[in-house]
Amino acid sequence: MKRVSLKRIYLATLTAVFLVTFALFVAFDYVSQQNQAEEALLEEARTFAREMDAVWQFMDNQQKVINTSSDGDYDFKGLHCSIVGKSVGAIFSYNNDYTIRYTNFEPRSYQDRPDAFEAEALTAFNEDSSVTEYYGVAEFAGEERFRYLQALEVDRSCLECHGGPVGEIDITGHPKEGWTLDSVGGAISIVIPLDQQREAVIGNLMLDAGFFLALTLVIGTVVYWVTRSFVLRPLERMSDAFGKMGERSLEVFVHEGGASREVADLIAGFNDMAEELRGVYENLEDQVADRTRDLKAANAELERQRDSLERLSAELAKESELKSDLLSMVNHEMRTPLTTVIALAHMAIEDCDKRLEVSPTPEEEESRAAWSEVLSSSRNLLGMINNMLDVARSDAGMTTVASELMDLGDVALAVSNTVKPIAKRSGVDFRTHVAADVPLVLGDFEKTGRLLENLAGNAVKFTPEGGAVRLGITLEEGTGDVLMSVADNGIGIAPEDQHRIFEKFVQVDISSRRRYGGNGLGLALVKDYAEAQGFDVALESELGRGSTFTVRIPRDLVVEDDYEGAIS
Ligand code: ADP
Repeated sequence: MKRVSLKRIYLATLTAVFLVTFALFVAFDYVSQQNQAEEALLEEARTFAREMDAVWQFMDNQQKVINTSSDGDYDFKGLHCSIVGKSVGAIFSYNNDYTIRYTNFEPRSYQDRPDAFEAEALTAFNEDSSVTEYYGVAEFAGEERFRYLQALEVDRSCLECHGGPVGEIDITGHPKEGWTLDSVGGAISIVIPLDQQREAVIGNLMLDAGFFLALTLVIGTVVYWVTRSFVLRPLERMSDAFGKMGERSLEVFVHEGGASREVADLIAGFNDMAEELRGVYENLEDQVADRTRDLKAANAELERQRDSLERLSAELAKESELKSDLLSMVNHEMRTPLTTVIALAHMAIEDCDKRLEVSPTPEEEESRAAWSEVLSSSRNLLGMINNMLDVARSDAGMTTVASELMDLGDVALAVSNTVKPIAKRSGVDFRTHVAADVPLVLGDFEKTGRLLENLAGNAVKFTPEGGAVRLGITLEEGTGDVLMSVADNGIGIAPEDQHRIFEKFVQVDISSRRRYGGNGLGLALVKDYAEAQGFDVALESELGRGSTFTVRIPRDLVVEDDYEGAIS
């Protein structure tokens, strides 16, 4: 939207206000001039009427003197009040636009007949005796004139010629009308031209309007000048300064000269703001320079860190290479001989058993115990090496998990075959129980076996002689999940350790390694294998009372009874 300047708004408002006020003033002045003119005409007419009345009275009073001859005889001269009044009126009206005459409903002379306005007035006088005058602007001789009528009341002197009896010839030779005292005996009718008054009204109006015009022009000019000097000009200066600021020039200062207090306050505020902005801007430049310096330093630091990271990554790559060399070395150089050692230990034990059957000597007993120790340690070692290799594979993202049909009874049997002999040697009662309603599930047979083997191995390891370990597999009622639990009544795990033992290389206490062996990788692997198959592992344990590890196989991995039928 295009904005209108304050100057224009101001001028437009002043002009509009002036025009409206002027129109109102002219209208008001015209009405008031008209009223005044009418008042003046009325006064003039009343004066004429009073004068005529005076003539009438005078003539009435002087009748005796006029009609008495020098001999003292009555000699009617014909100068009665009516004729004199009318004559004076006629003389007065001669050669000008004024008219003064006498009128009556029953005129003795044809010229005294009332016209329409006079007839209205006479009717009003006759109807209401309190109405003694009647006036207004009305038509006379084809023009608008001011008309005034004053009622003539019948007094005693009138009755002589106009009283009763009706029809009797009076002194003037006219038949009497039979008027009564105080009735209306006609009216003096005065007609005054309006031209002069109209001219006067228009003249006055022009004069007033001219004065008003001059006055408002002076006031308007003064107001405009004051506003322009004290408000508009200073505001323009401020607007120019804003424009300069918009062009990024902050070196601006607006002079207050001539501004009103309010605008001067505004300008002072603006100057303060400009100064503050200058300060902020300069500060900003310094800050930007500081930031740039900081950024450069941070960049250099980043470069350094990148270099060291690159070095580290090269080292790590080298280490990783070494690690994989080590792993393949462990795989080939340790696992193979260990498997051979285990097989040999088995054969040696079987041999010892045979010889013991034939001749049970203490040397043979000792030899069998030694081979059992070899077998147990080798198995332990092989377990640790297997865990290590599995963790390394998992870290390298090389673990793959199969999704095959699993009979958990078979898994439990395989685990039992491995763990039971170890438990026996440790004097721990190990038993498995697979509920009859446990269904087939989807999972990786080998990994699930390793998972349970680790849990059961730990349970046996951390249960003192005489203790018991139970591997149970059940179908949970309600949820339909399958639960595999390994419970022991061994040393238990403190609450604060229960979470962290699932991390790699974590053992509850350092002495554990010396006493029980192991490398803290078993549970990490359990967790990895469980999660990879969509299982969940939970632990409940109490220090000194035992632990129960529960692996939950969710219902959606459970295969319904008719699955085999469906796939066969
Ligand atoms: P490790 O090779 O040491 O057994 P694990 O990861 O299998 O490594 O176990 C980590 C630690 O958790 C063990 O060293 C032991 O302190 C504790 N732990 C595991 N299973 C049990 C258990 N059944 N009873 C008590 N402690 C256990």
